[in-house]
Amino acid sequence: MAATKRAIPVDLAVRLRDPGRRFDGRAAAFLDRDGVINNNGHYVNTVEDFELLPGAAAAIRRLNDAGVPVIVVTNQGSVALEYLTRDELERIHDRMDALLAEENAHVDAIYAALAYPEGKVPELAKVSEYRKPAPGMLRRAQEDLGVDPSRSHMVGDATTDILAGQAAGCLTILVETGFAGKDEKAKAVPDYVAVDLGAAVDLILAAVDQPGSQVDLK
Ligand SMILES: [Mg+2]
Repeated sequence: MAATKRAIPVDLAVRLRDPGRRFDGRAAAFLDRDGVINNNGHYVNTVEDFELLPGAAAAIRRLNDAGVPVIVVTNQGSVALEYLTRDELERIHDRMDALLAEENAHVDAIYAALAYPEGKVPELAKVSEYRKPAPGMLRRAQEDLGVDPSRSHMVGDATTDILAGQAAGCLTILVETGFAGKDEKAKAVPDYVAVDLGAAVDLILAAVDQPGSQVDLK
């Protein structure tokens, strides 16, 4: 993956699997990372920390097979807090890509919000439009890739994921892995609750598999 050509703000990291590819008008699956794809309940600050959740790769492969762009949107304020560097974050995402590839799955883009208001890195110690619950990562993906948020789903394990998805105009799915919505950061009412990413993908594919859906556009 390479970075997108457009200037990338200091508080955002972007990886595109196929730079220049557009998914105009498509319904996307926006996925939170920690607690949805990987690591039920502990932080990921090194490559060795990263472990896929059971069934996550198979779920993502089903989205791939249906032609649904998979866009990861992850808060990584750990970079602002100096728990990991940007390079380490890239290596963690190299590892994620490799583990998914072992099961013939891939993500199309990864957006990571690097700021944290109490961060130690001066340029990242701020309120960021990209950090969920703000919808900046989803909006940026809309601009970069052309996906249609109003037809897309946001899947997350935290209230902040649900709020970000709602602010971007997506349908929202809370999964019962990770925080399972019990992060107590905010009040949020998702459109759906699913036991895990596999069950969330069932809901997404049921919505996409409608007349006029992108399955026909694949
Ligand atoms: Mg999470």
